[in-house]
Amino acid sequence: MCRDDGRDTMCIPCKDRNCVQRRKQWTKGTQNLEYQTERLQKKLEQNIPIIWTKHLDDREIMRNISSLQSAEALKNGYCIWYNQTSEPQYGSVEKWIWLGYAKTGPKTYKPLHLVLSYSKDSDRIIVLTVYDPSVLYWMWNKTFEKRICWHKEHPIIEA
Ligand SMILES: [Zn+2]
Repeated sequence: MCRDDGRDTMCIPCKDRNCVQRRKQWTKGTQNLEYQTERLQKKLEQNIPIIWTKHLDDREIMRNISSLQSAEALKNGYCIWYNQTSEPQYGSVEKWIWLGYAKTGPKTYKPLHLVLSYSKDSDRIIVLTVYDPSVLYWMWNKTFEKRICWHKEHPIIEA
């Protein structure tokens, strides 16, 4: 959760038991981030197809994020979380949370998170969703690199 003191936004990890537990889980996805960034960047450099899902289109409209901004963030972004799971239907599924910035004015940028997947079979990058983490700012640390809270609404700060 974050507290605005007028000059800077201070974020302290939420003390809620569920959020503490989920933070531990989250940490598992923060190993070898440089490696996972490089892996995906290499694929982007190879200009393999990028699939922007329909679901994503709807979300973009809802969240006031243009396709151009998403593409920009994909290009300049890096991996903040990576996870590989095996699902009976699809086999091995890889997921990246990617943090990039999109220009919104002459000197202003907004952070964007893109949730990415990669299909080995078709050699494609799939953009599952995109959102501006600063909208739900209490969920993230100051740099929007670490998830600190899972409350859907801003939790009440205990004195
Ligand atoms: Zn929380």
